[in-house]
Amino acid sequence: MKSFEIVGNKNALNAVSSMIDAGRIPHGVVICGKSGLGKKTLALYIAGKLLCEQENAPCGKCRTCKMLLGGGHPDFIRVAPSLKSGAYKLEEDLRGVVSDAYIAPSEGKYKVYLIADMDKTPQGSQNALLKLIEEPPDHTVVILTASAKEYFLPTVLSRVITLGVSPVSKDECREYLTKSCGRSGDEIESAITAMGGNIGACLSFMDSKTLPKAVGVARDIALCVSAKSEYDILMQFWRLQGNKELALLCLSLLSEIFRDAVMLRMGMGKDSLIGCANDASAELAKKLSDTRLSQLCEIPEKYTASIIGNSNLTLCLNAVVADIMERIG
Ligand SMILES: [Zn+2]
Repeated sequence: MKSFEIVGNKNALNAVSSMIDAGRIPHGVVICGKSGLGKKTLALYIAGKLLCEQENAPCGKCRTCKMLLGGGHPDFIRVAPSLKSGAYKLEEDLRGVVSDAYIAPSEGKYKVYLIADMDKTPQGSQNALLKLIEEPPDHTVVILTASAKEYFLPTVLSRVITLGVSPVSKDECREYLTKSCGRSGDEIESAITAMGGNIGACLSFMDSKTLPKAVGVARDIALCVSAKSEYDILMQFWRLQGNKELALLCLSLLSEIFRDAVMLRMGMGKDSLIGCANDASAELAKKLSDTRLSQLCEIPEKYTASIIGNSNLTLCLNAVVADIMERIG
């Protein structure tokens, strides 16, 4: 059963709660933050805050709250993207929404529209959003989410309030997972070691067979890269053969490990790290120069595209290794 509970993220929570409590209803809200950090939970909380009519809204117990938590409240409308890639064709996907927004809510005082995960939707098509967030009817609230605010047109951002969600501390994460997910202490610890204070990512880590494997391979690759051993790097990449999904996941984790190494070289603290293998990032930062590290950072994105587009994974993996060796010298 879902709940309205938001762990950490007091700034975002206080900002939006105090606006609503003071009767200043935000008609457009953008929530930004990496996958797993609770953007949709915050959106659900905002809907609860607006629609629950109890004193301590969202109370979590009344009929309205139960409908919201169960996913069946008629005034909380999740807009679905029409493209398989997860991108919205906004012009089409919003056509019905714009006219629906002018019809009064069926249960409560507001209609809340959630348009989630906008990362893949081209900015050029976002003008279609303006119809919804420019001079909206008093009863409508539109919530948009993406992993970063840069995914939105400036004209969209200028008409909304922007809230950010961040990872919580490892202690807060451990406390939440211990009471809510029914996993053993060991499972929770290994999830937190790999995923840090990203609660959603920790839950995926424990649910997935691929993710823990990808974390292990990505860490081993990063350690071999720091040791500049071509043979070992090759052996690690070969563990990904025949499994495109694993290879792509591994590259996206490597991209974070490389980025963290750059952050460490710049003297940033451990709190600024986002990757799943802080020890490997520290090794890279120790062994490679700034120039080599920044060249390394280009690798994951470059080969993600070629792995998606190319049917021969083995050739791609060999090419990645050759490219890495060229860049680290
Ligand atoms: Zn309630």
